[in-house]
Amino acid sequence: MSTIRYCKLRDTDVIISPKRLHRPTQFHTPTDHYDIDECPFEVGNEDATPNEIYSIKDKNGDWITRVVPNLYNALDIHEENSSKREGFFTSKSAFGAHEVIIETPSHDKTADRYTLENWEAYLKTINHRVEDLSQDSRLKYIQVFKNHGSRAGATLRHPHSQIIATGFVPSEVKNELQRAKDYYEIHNRTLLQDIINEELRIGERVIYENNSFVAFAPFASLYPFEVIIAPKEQIGTMSELTQVKIHELAQILKNVHKKLYATLGDFHYNMIFKNPLTAVESYTFYIQIIPRIYMIAGFELASEMRINPVSPEVAAKKLKEVL
Ligand SMILES: [Zn+2]
Repeated sequence: MSTIRYCKLRDTDVIISPKRLHRPTQFHTPTDHYDIDECPFEVGNEDATPNEIYSIKDKNGDWITRVVPNLYNALDIHEENSSKREGFFTSKSAFGAHEVIIETPSHDKTADRYTLENWEAYLKTINHRVEDLSQDSRLKYIQVFKNHGSRAGATLRHPHSQIIATGFVPSEVKNELQRAKDYYEIHNRTLLQDIINEELRIGERVIYENNSFVAFAPFASLYPFEVIIAPKEQIGTMSELTQVKIHELAQILKNVHKKLYATLGDFHYNMIFKNPLTAVESYTFYIQIIPRIYMIAGFELASEMRINPVSPEVAAKKLKEVL
């Protein structure tokens, strides 16, 4: 039987519908094939991605992570930040930032094979860029995300993430922050903290936890094998993480990716950092991993609801048991 579950965090419903799953045990995705020959992110090919913004180097001076402007940028930092009326309609200039984080020099290193050092360098790179961009008071919203695989929108195989920063807060983000604020005013705790405490109490959907972080399949998972990674105690943004907490976040990311790859193969996914520009007491930062196993179709586009054929209980059990 299907059930319709409400997601408090995202204010939307999801139809959990196991009947829709045509091949119950077949989750593995075939690997995409991309050429290494013309990869602009290779060591020695740095001229293909000029104007390096930031890098972390090892003791030999070789880069571990590298940040460059996106050559196919959607937004431009040199645009003026303005909006205008066009008769009945309104538009804004394409002001903003669009950067690429090259996560490793290794073209074929999937995230399940990242070392703790890889993950730590990745997280430090994100924090550095967010901190630097947030100095620009014209930027109101910074989104870090990773697309892996063609179904997730990636066009390059080489492991990379992107940062898009805009001069305004997108409406859905504004709504989420407002819902979080409304909840905090009543309960004096963040909504996500209450969700985490409840998930830890029930335990069934918890996939992995360490001292400071927990990974779980949310009650109203919008996608099959969706995972949320969040701090057990209130932390507003990633910029507040101590060295010890960066290490623990790296550790849980490493573990969760290993589990996902062991269960789903070289799966396509988006990883989204829900990380506000400035810490507020009403919001807890979190990381969302969204495997793109099934395509989003007409109903989903029309209603903004999702149909998820894999219950989070089944997903959590598989991910908990593997490895
Ligand atoms: Zn490459």
